[in-house]
Amino acid sequence: MRGENGYTGAGTTQINLANGRFAPSPTGPLHVGNLRTALLAWLFARSAGARFLVRVEDLDRSRVRPGVEEAQLADLRSLGLDWDGPIVRQSERMELYEKAIARLDAGGLLYPCYCTRAEIRAAVSAPHGISAADRYPGTCRDLTVAQRAEKEAAGRPPALRVRADEARIAFEDRLLGRFEDVVDDFVIRRNDGAPAYQIAVVVDDAAQGIGEVVRGADLVDSTPRQILLARLLDLPVPRYAHVSLALGPDGQRLAKRHGAVTLADRVAAGEGPEDVLAWMARSLGMAGPEEMPTLEGMLARFDPAHLPTEPTVWSPKPE
Ligand code: GLU
Repeated sequence: MRGENGYTGAGTTQINLANGRFAPSPTGPLHVGNLRTALLAWLFARSAGARFLVRVEDLDRSRVRPGVEEAQLADLRSLGLDWDGPIVRQSERMELYEKAIARLDAGGLLYPCYCTRAEIRAAVSAPHGISAADRYPGTCRDLTVAQRAEKEAAGRPPALRVRADEARIAFEDRLLGRFEDVVDDFVIRRNDGAPAYQIAVVVDDAAQGIGEVVRGADLVDSTPRQILLARLLDLPVPRYAHVSLALGPDGQRLAKRHGAVTLADRVAAGEGPEDVLAWMARSLGMAGPEEMPTLEGMLARFDPAHLPTEPTVWSPKPE
């Protein structure tokens, strides 16, 4: 019973742990790699006695497809992954994002950007690393009032970018170790008016009390940006664990073209959710080649220290 350390109650030790989450975008069916990330997020949270939340990231209305959210949630249920509380949808939380954007704006931290993607790419000359082509070169950062008026008159709707001041952000990833990057002036509100992924995630992770973000390693480049935003908004910064991805046999990120990669595909091929779980467990070094582990069994033996950090190449079981 040591209140100051988060322990409460007499006799029972209840640790006040922050929540975990899985945050799919309902833009297409989840493949076995995405589902493995969901399993890991669930295992991280549940093995720590934390709550596990599901958040539907449906802000990009042009990419959301009807029925996909339902199918994704059905997949989680089929695998036995349960969650706490109601599903949270970003499309229903616009006010929260707008408030955060207004706060950044009031602090003089945002500026309108009129650049097209092609212009940004053309302005970035020499490659300075993998994400160099996506790094904003600052073209619109210091436009004069007259220059802005000229761009406005040309009729191109601006996006809003944050003044990141080339902040160098480092963090300790639970799986990948130390990661560091210089943050560019990234988009906060898109030029179609939608809040950008980065700000929505930061606002939601804080509002939902997420203590540890578990997600695919493909998102690690976003993390310094999100940490910077949390700091600018005076929000708590969660811990991070970026889990390794599943690749297709060609070494590319797993996708539909690699064949029967969704749960529905696997079921159509004669497998059950337990076979898919078994593949996940084996690929994570959590089960032997012939073992058919249950979710409870995996939970009992889960140890983040033993997770692979290298990607897994997906190959369906030979028939
Ligand atoms: N919605 C994002 C995706 O499906 C994940 C965001 C996150 O986990 O931070 O790629």
